[in-house]
Amino acid sequence: MSSSLIERIRSIQDSLPESVKLIAVSKKVGPAAIREAYAAGIRDFGESRIQEAQSKIEQLQDLQGITWHFIGHLQSNKAKKALSYFQWLHSVDSLKLAQRLNLLAQELGVVPKICLQVKILPDPDKSGWTIQQILDDLTELNLCKNLQIEGLMTIPPLGLDSSEVIYVFNRTRELIAEIDERNLSNIKMKQLSMGMSQDYQLAIQSGATMIRLGTILFGERQL
Ligand SMILES: *Cc1c(COP(=O)(O)O)cnc(C)c1O
Repeated sequence: MSSSLIERIRSIQDSLPESVKLIAVSKKVGPAAIREAYAAGIRDFGESRIQEAQSKIEQLQDLQGITWHFIGHLQSNKAKKALSYFQWLHSVDSLKLAQRLNLLAQELGVVPKICLQVKILPDPDKSGWTIQQILDDLTELNLCKNLQIEGLMTIPPLGLDSSEVIYVFNRTRELIAEIDERNLSNIKMKQLSMGMSQDYQLAIQSGATMIRLGTILFGERQL
């Protein structure tokens, strides 16, 4: 990449509709680059590992107004930590985890914003609800009063062509509409967290409200 981080952020921000929030995925990115992104105006950062995030969040305490988004698979023994470091959890992927977070949120006196992670197509590499499972679990999820259930998150399986990716994104949007038709008191689906570096433009065309971009901003991650 020949442009600078700041130039890349500016040009992507300028291309986004007002309705779309850019989350800069800073996993495996050091605090210095996060500071640069902050200076370019980013206030939403995504992390996928609790331990890595904890250390960076502590080092960046002086930056005002950051919202931290957890986007990785959350093990239940890290759930409490996740709630103390993150305001948003995009990757709540089972009823059991949601119920545990609900209890912990009450204990901690917080009301996290969450997205429910769905798998529109079968994907052995990912966790999340199938369409049928999430429809079945809505009544129980609605009882999780300490969670602010904001929407759905999805990641298409690897190796799809663009028409299949579009299908996944559109089906996720339709699922939000189906869930809203149930008129549940605690579940008002407004957010569609979908779209990464490779497919964010398709996601926006399908109605994404939050895109999660890593590589296209910060460059290839070291493994
Ligand atoms: C790593 C990650 C991203 C960012 O992926 P890029 O392809 O680097 O943009 C977005 N969402 C989730 C859930 C991720 O784990």
